[in-house]
Amino acid sequence: MKPLGPIPAGYEAIDGVLAVAGQPVTHWVEQAGGTPLFLYSADHVRRRVADLRAAMPERLALHYAMKANPFPPLLALMATLVDGFDVASGGELDIAAKAGVPLAKVSFAGPGKRDTELESAIRAGVTLNLESEGEAARAIAIGERIGLAPRLAIRVNPDFDLKGSGMKMGGGAKPFGVDAERVPALVRTVLASGAQWRGFHIFAGSQALDAEAIADTQAQTLTLAARLAEESGVPLPHCNLGGGLGIPYFPGDTPVDLPLVGKRLAEQFAVLPDVLAETAFCMELGRYLVGEAGVYLARIVDRKVSHGEVFLVTDGGLHHQLAASGNFGTVVRRNYPSAIATRFGVAVEEEASIVGCLCTPLDKLAEKGGFPRADVGDLAAVFCAGAYGASASPSAFLGQGPAFELLV
Ligand SMILES: *Cc1c(COP(=O)(O)O)cnc(C)c1O
Repeated sequence: MKPLGPIPAGYEAIDGVLAVAGQPVTHWVEQAGGTPLFLYSADHVRRRVADLRAAMPERLALHYAMKANPFPPLLALMATLVDGFDVASGGELDIAAKAGVPLAKVSFAGPGKRDTELESAIRAGVTLNLESEGEAARAIAIGERIGLAPRLAIRVNPDFDLKGSGMKMGGGAKPFGVDAERVPALVRTVLASGAQWRGFHIFAGSQALDAEAIADTQAQTLTLAARLAEESGVPLPHCNLGGGLGIPYFPGDTPVDLPLVGKRLAEQFAVLPDVLAETAFCMELGRYLVGEAGVYLARIVDRKVSHGEVFLVTDGGLHHQLAASGNFGTVVRRNYPSAIATRFGVAVEEEASIVGCLCTPLDKLAEKGGFPRADVGDLAAVFCAGAYGASASPSAFLGQGPAFELLV
């Protein structure tokens, strides 16, 4: 039997059925119109944000990186909970605008911004996190042409990365950001252009669970921000410290020690140099805010045995949950937390693999896990589905169509 990842806290059973927001998931499946379904809990997100606010220094604002989950009702909820949003394309900016996100609170990072995207962002008062000198020149020229002073920040490619992070975003040659040593010259160009100077964006990595490593990276980030501001010759108005907080997906993973990260950051904030004395700080988080608040539910449509192995074949699959199948940035396939939702909390009775309905051997949601016996009609649940699920999976692949999504 292969181990399954740890089921996030806060999931319980009602009459043997997995429950979300006080109702069995069978109820929500009916409400949504069927399976497969991404079910998101608003309460879970609210608690997560409250925990962060309690642990972190008050001076730290919280931003939501919407590429984790751009479901419009979730964005509308987020708009009531966080201080800002980070988008990574003109398409995301449109989705945010339609969901009612105040665009003055949005910043836009990401390589390859087209002129049309730069122009609509400048018109909307969005802060552009500049990824290169070339992009800076285009943004400044567009601002001059349309008679608006763009809000410009510089994304710094730091000369360090976040230790133990699942995805390294800094350190060495990268398509993201401007290499640290070239930043002061670009700051002077931005200032001379008459643009509104919005500071630095420094993102060193993602999906880290080690609080010490996160705290060390934040300390390095502050040191770098201070040095670059000093060399640029102006105090820093704003600094986005990046994110990095991960969630446990796999066997053996444990949650981030949030109070420790908060304590270390408060210590750093207490001894900031003059050039950062008035700086507004934020952190931008995606999966940490929403990942554990979502569960993916698929109906078992066939139960079969092949060479003695049990396969529970569902109506879902990697076209909705690419990451759980192990095909989204992982080297070794390991099991996400998963369960039989309609027999939740029941003891393990057999070894089975939960698979999808695509005709590819890659389409595994849980491989050789221990589950209670499940049959046709039961619901399988894959947890940690609130981030990088529906929007990060190839839903057009094999013509199976998108999943339902519901925020409750
Ligand atoms: C993807 C991304 C995030 C969010 O990452 P998570 O691991 O989901 O928290 C934040 N900032 C930037 C710049 C990103 O590209």
